[in-house]
Amino acid sequence: MTREIDKAAVVTAVNEAYTQYVKTAEGENASYIPYLKNIPPSLFGIAVCMADGERIEVGDTGYRFGIESVSKVPTAVLAMKQHGPQTVMRKIGADATGLPFNSIMAILLENDHPSTPLVNAGAITACSMIAPTGNSDAKWLAIKGFVEALCGFSVEVIDELYRSESATNFNNRSIAWLLKNYGRVYDDPDLSLDIYTRQCSIGITAAQLAVMAATIAADGRNPVTGCEVFPADIAPRIVSLMATVGFYERTGDWMFRTGLPAKSGVGGGIMGVAPGIMGIAAFAPPLDAAGNSVKAQKAVSYIAQRLGLNVYGSQRVTLRKPATVVA
Ligand code: GLN
Repeated sequence: MTREIDKAAVVTAVNEAYTQYVKTAEGENASYIPYLKNIPPSLFGIAVCMADGERIEVGDTGYRFGIESVSKVPTAVLAMKQHGPQTVMRKIGADATGLPFNSIMAILLENDHPSTPLVNAGAITACSMIAPTGNSDAKWLAIKGFVEALCGFSVEVIDELYRSESATNFNNRSIAWLLKNYGRVYDDPDLSLDIYTRQCSIGITAAQLAVMAATIAADGRNPVTGCEVFPADIAPRIVSLMATVGFYERTGDWMFRTGLPAKSGVGGGIMGVAPGIMGIAAFAPPLDAAGNSVKAQKAVSYIAQRLGLNVYGSQRVTLRKPATVVA
């Protein structure tokens, strides 16, 4: 069964989601990273980028916030592009941990691999794998350049966030060295951790995240710039990882409610991928207890349901092409 949607339907869904949740005041900003604690909690933006490059935005979609764990997605894709999905599977894995994003117990329970590139341990391993190894600046340029290609804009680290996070990331330091103990970090552990901390500190907007998600939805071709950013066979792999662990120990709840693979970050961003159809991003700083933005979850969930984007349903949504005018 297929159902066509057009741009007008998406505009309606995005505006309704914004109006419905703009006043929601549940959740708390992340406080374990001092910078994030002080971001105005009422910021709220929703952006959609369709697989044909059409963009729809409402609210604070130009505000630069910390990308945080959403950055695990581009680095996982880059690791698969450089080494192939099978090597990433062998060296990191593709399993849910069912535990918080920064869990050390998850590493102890699965000491043969770090489970998935979408939790801290696997993301630090993914950073360690990015070529070239042993050269922090060149590795960083590879990661930053890849984020830029995915979202079609240049991005920069938010220095204050990077300093704030570097000064307080004791748990992540333990993870990096525990991975070293298990032979699961493929570059210097401190260098790999620093690259991970830098990628989490990238400033990004909801508008940019929507384009990144749309590039994944469009099988690796950025629909705004037209550039082929990664091979198409990687797209279903990264989408499956997002569906497996995008909201950590709350991922099952999320997929049950929405059926839309998505990834969250403690900066308040969420990026959802409707394969072949669109990327959706939402941003609002206050989080639930698992570190997922309350308002962004509600907004993305509303849009997914309103437009019928559940990937597990029998209904296939397609984009209606604009009518061609015959002179
Ligand atoms: N930089 C954060 C951390 O490592 C990212 C966590 C997140 O967004 N869930 O703790």
